[in-house]
Amino acid sequence: MDLHFTDDQPTPEEREAIDAWLSSNTAPPEGGDLRQFLLPVLHAIQGRVGWISLGALNYACRALDVPPADAFGVADFYAMFQTRPHPPVAIHVCDDIGCQFRGAEALCAQVAQSGVAWHRSPCLGLCERAPAALVTMAGKPPREVSVAPATAESVLGVLDVLDVPFPNLAASVPQMGQPGLTLLRRVGQIDPWSLDDYRAAGGFLALRRAFEMGPDRVIGEVIEAKLVGRGGAAFPTGQKWLGMRSAPLPRYLVCNADESEPGTFKDRVILEGDPYSLIESMIIAGFATGCERGYLYIRGEYPLATDLLDNAIRRCRERGFLGTDILGDGVRFDIELRRGAGAYICGEETALLNSLEGYRGEPRNKPPFPTQVGLFGQPTAINNVETLVNVLPIVLEGGKAFAAIGTERSTGPKLFCLSGHVRRPGVYEVPFGVTLREVLEMAGGVTGNLQAILLGGAAGAFITPDQIDVPLTFEGTRAIGAALGSGVIMPFDDTVDLRLVLRRIAQFFRDESCGQCVPCRVGTVRQEEVLHRLATDRPFGSVKQELSLLNELGQVMRDASICGLGQTASSAIESALARFPILQEKR
Ligand code: SF4
Repeated sequence: MDLHFTDDQPTPEEREAIDAWLSSNTAPPEGGDLRQFLLPVLHAIQGRVGWISLGALNYACRALDVPPADAFGVADFYAMFQTRPHPPVAIHVCDDIGCQFRGAEALCAQVAQSGVAWHRSPCLGLCERAPAALVTMAGKPPREVSVAPATAESVLGVLDVLDVPFPNLAASVPQMGQPGLTLLRRVGQIDPWSLDDYRAAGGFLALRRAFEMGPDRVIGEVIEAKLVGRGGAAFPTGQKWLGMRSAPLPRYLVCNADESEPGTFKDRVILEGDPYSLIESMIIAGFATGCERGYLYIRGEYPLATDLLDNAIRRCRERGFLGTDILGDGVRFDIELRRGAGAYICGEETALLNSLEGYRGEPRNKPPFPTQVGLFGQPTAINNVETLVNVLPIVLEGGKAFAAIGTERSTGPKLFCLSGHVRRPGVYEVPFGVTLREVLEMAGGVTGNLQAILLGGAAGAFITPDQIDVPLTFEGTRAIGAALGSGVIMPFDDTVDLRLVLRRIAQFFRDESCGQCVPCRVGTVRQEEVLHRLATDRPFGSVKQELSLLNELGQVMRDASICGLGQTASSAIESALARFPILQEKR
């Protein structure tokens, strides 16, 4: 096939980076297609020189048998890849809603004066320690360091320091070490690099128990537990796994660790504090569903979690917890770690599959669903991190005991991400059914006079202070026109101009829309434009006309967008406009 190469040649560094990646990853490709290695190879180039030149792209495409024009479209899709000349060092400063009122603007201004290349970034998933920044340093080897809370000094300081201290997990998990925790019980109590520490703290007991039970009983317990997905969609996990049992082989398991919803950081805390628990959960899920291969797709902006998972997978292979004869029981399962590259849409399950296959992260039409036609066209079970780690207590204690926690329709423990104007931000583990007021009190209460609370993230809803007694369950939040979403709880005090928050949310969706369908591609742009005009008191016509246009845009995006991004891009905005008098006086 003529792939239409240009005359551009790679530099020696680019050639070396590509060759090094290809020679250290010689496993035969799943699905027979080399293209699936495109994203890791692009990471190798970006990490070595700081941008992806046409020469490097030509060289990579010859090796992977991909047309360079096509590969350019992929590289250009992801925010972490630069396709134009760029310095090797870059600072990415989060200016999203969690950092916006915690000094992000001042940090941007200071970093801008440093002379180092810098970019504004959507949420970096470090909201509990806002403001946050990510420093990327291309080279051999490349380095990436998250800094939070970030100051200009601390951000610039990591450029010269090789050994950055491990983050203080107590700052992310205020409940750390307390009795009664399930999902967070090991966080901060073990060395997350050490397999032995994990085992000494009860690690891999659930795996042994699962092997004794057999796949059908494991799925039976998950069904009895009434576990539903924790990534936002709340689909029953046991039913998904049951469907996989009778699907044709090969089947794949995918862990969605691409947590990118603004205000969400719970998965990151598990990955940084208890990474082996996810590996153990994935092995059990693979065993139950009859998958021999799992893919762990981690958010590109989580460098520490990526290193910890890479280490955990290697250690597990060395010690027989992954491979062709796990624990000597003849069970085959292995995990490939893949890194995203800065695209929120890849958290959508079918976009994630396209990304894994080496394409732009654009969602697919559903049906068919991934359990029917998923990765490489094969049946695929996709589960989020928090969902998977819930399987460990279900296997150990039984589905009935798990279902006894929480309420009839929302069972088990739940992680919530508290940030914004709250005294002790962080990840909190509570049983479903506690009220929002109780969780805020656990976090020391709101700082200042409470104005509004964003529940569920940018795709969620704003609620008012008088709705604070809502029980945190799927059914309880639905009853007040809100959603648990990804577990975001972000209170804003009355010093915050909510119009600016709404504009930032609109900007986020405009930026993250994959652009594949018109209602979302155009609707998110128009939505941001209206909110910008309203935030700057320059409406076209009257405010009433602008609000009516916003409603119409929201309706069209909800009704006609392909995926959840477009369908929810106006949810939080419409909820705020309906519940708060932010524009009423001018209507
Ligand atoms: Fe892409 Fe938006 Fe359409 Fe989803 S709704 S497919 S993000 S353009």
